[in-house]
Amino acid sequence: MTAIKSSNLGYPRLGEKREWKRALERYWSGQGSQEELLSTTKALRLEALKKQQLKGIDIIPVADFSLYDHILDTSVAFNVIPERFQTGDGNTLTTYFDIARGNKEGVASEMTKWFNTNYHYIVPELADVKPELKDNRWLTYYLEAKEALGIEGKPVIVGPITYLKLGKGYQEEDFSDLLGKFVPVYEQVLKELGAAGVQWVQIDEPYLATEVSETELDYYREVYAQLAKVGVKLELQTYFESVDHLEAVLALPVEAIGLDFIHDHGETLSQLKEIGFPSNKILAAGIIDGRNVWASDLTKKVALVKDLLAIVKPEQLWLQPSNSLLHVPITKSSEVTLNPVLLGGLAFADEKLAELVTVTKGGNQGEATIVEELAANQAGITALNESPDRNNPEVKKAIAGLSALKNERQAPFSERIKAQKAWLKLPLLPTTTIGSFPQSPEVRQKRAAWLKGDLTQAAYDQFIESETARWIEIQEELDIDVLVHGEFERTDMVEYFGQKLAGFQATKFGWVQSYGSRAVRPPLVYGDVAFIEPITVKESVYAQSLTTRPVKGMLTAPVTIINWSFVRDDVPKTTVGNQIGLALRKEVEALEAAGIKIIQVDEPALREGLPLKRSRWQAYLEAAVYSFKLTTTSVADDTQIHTHMCYAEFDDVIETIDALDADVISIEASRSHGEIISTFEEHTYNKEIGLGVYDIHSPRVPSLEEILGNIRRPLKVIPVEQFWINPDCGLKTRKEAETIAALAKLVEATKIIRQEY
Ligand code: GLN
Ligand code: ZN
Repeated sequence: MTAIKSSNLGYPRLGEKREWKRALERYWSGQGSQEELLSTTKALRLEALKKQQLKGIDIIPVADFSLYDHILDTSVAFNVIPERFQTGDGNTLTTYFDIARGNKEGVASEMTKWFNTNYHYIVPELADVKPELKDNRWLTYYLEAKEALGIEGKPVIVGPITYLKLGKGYQEEDFSDLLGKFVPVYEQVLKELGAAGVQWVQIDEPYLATEVSETELDYYREVYAQLAKVGVKLELQTYFESVDHLEAVLALPVEAIGLDFIHDHGETLSQLKEIGFPSNKILAAGIIDGRNVWASDLTKKVALVKDLLAIVKPEQLWLQPSNSLLHVPITKSSEVTLNPVLLGGLAFADEKLAELVTVTKGGNQGEATIVEELAANQAGITALNESPDRNNPEVKKAIAGLSALKNERQAPFSERIKAQKAWLKLPLLPTTTIGSFPQSPEVRQKRAAWLKGDLTQAAYDQFIESETARWIEIQEELDIDVLVHGEFERTDMVEYFGQKLAGFQATKFGWVQSYGSRAVRPPLVYGDVAFIEPITVKESVYAQSLTTRPVKGMLTAPVTIINWSFVRDDVPKTTVGNQIGLALRKEVEALEAAGIKIIQVDEPALREGLPLKRSRWQAYLEAAVYSFKLTTTSVADDTQIHTHMCYAEFDDVIETIDALDADVISIEASRSHGEIISTFEEHTYNKEIGLGVYDIHSPRVPSLEEILGNIRRPLKVIPVEQFWINPDCGLKTRKEAETIAALAKLVEATKIIRQEY
């Protein structure tokens, strides 16, 4: 029978209780053997496949599994091994982890964010590579699924153009040559798969969802014409955005085209209605959101399928998640303690697959066969939407009133800064840090004991205070000018605020892979966000009571909170950003009222949330600036607003940074002074600024010379009166001794330079 099919693009690796992570870490620590690692992870892999089979997914992905990262898998399979790791003992797995984590001979390969997600991949090093197929892992995993479970799997491989675009170590003009070297390797992979009886291969080309040039489009035409000759059916898969040259992409010689109908800003469906879809191809439609945790409105999905069936025949349609489910937690069934109303509106990976199966069934057998599922789904969504948590009248009123709010500081920067300098009386080149100090094993132990109930609240509070007091003294001894309380009470800069604002909920097992074995548990922003009571005032006021030097208050800004959370999708993200902005505005006002007159509002994730297409940047950045200003603009002129960002590519966002209208910004810079300086040569920036003068990502204590250089260079382009001295970022992951030694050097260098003015 020909009919609509359900298909998946990839499944989370972690295991429901993070068994995958534990297996890896046991192996790395030497506690577990390689055999043990391989057998544990095989069991997890088969369990995940079996789940998809039992749910009734028609087309199940294989080889989406990874022991670290799928881009690294591809590199190692293709013999793309950086020279410094080629001397290994011949054990491929050792080499594999060495590339990811470094070894005695070499530093790990760089890792970076996978498109606009929080997943990080290992960047292929492509200088002088001689690609060859060392290991057809796609075949191995295909056979494994077939033999163990009788699954006719769909191997998933990252496509050659995306793979090479994500790599480094070559010049743009050499791209075509490089592609020429890799295409034969892909051909071989496909040939072997075809020979083994593989029916479909999913070839991921998310690069097609970025802004693709005509030249690049030609690469696609050439490469896929070449790969088509092998004769294995290809599903060319795109995700995370709409595809710009849709008509040209639909014409590529592949048998199925995967498109994202969720993150495409509604463009794909309307375009297809216009241009149609080739009658000899499968439309693999990503209709369930693979990037968030909310239940889909299945009634709307059924309607979408009807729209699609006006464009293609049922046998031409596959229904899929919008992207690999790698980006969501595994199952909500572990969240037994959650509020049932919230739980009813959630769908993690397993629940999303169930949604797909339901919609597929409705499409094939008629809506009448899924009425119960639709009713239950509708009831869950309505209950959540109508819950008081999503209908806070005060929040609604405040949001409705935004157009009447000025959302600007009272005086312009040039006047404010005078009022600030008048009371601050800071020396030239004031010194400060970014906020956190080392979270020693003791800090972590005490927190764990408190969470378990083994340590009373009072004892825990007292411990946090004693750490704060100790570090205020250390900072005074170091002679730092603007102090911080140290953030000992926070495990995470987003989670902490999530615990104290209305509208947030933490999960128990909502883990998502970030990089390697590292997983994060983003909070759910599920309701209207509102201020309940002061969040940081107690700690800041306590720290300030111990010193006559100013202590900075420390908050996390709206866009960073949003980018590191799962945000409700029933209202626009900008509305959620504004709700957070307004809630934090009350916190800023509470700090100010309590005498904290320097307040830092961190926005480290601003840049990483940039849309994949530049045409959408402006709207994103304007919304980011607006919500930041909601948090910061109600203070008096002589209250000094700081912000901090952890990256060094500023050229394209400098106007935004200026528009934030923060009095002082600290940014990461020590690893890329050259670049930053040219940014400031080209743009005038007249507010105060601290460029990180040493790299906090390494335990190495910087030399005096190095810091002196890092201060003197930018002073050639930035006036000394505007300049602050600080490290690159927070110091939470560093050890105490190295932190104190590095900060001592920072102050020493500052004092030397002050003499020069
Ligand atoms: N205030 C935070 C800290 O110091 C900032 C962290 C960050 O920029 N990621 O830890
Ligand atoms: Zn930072």
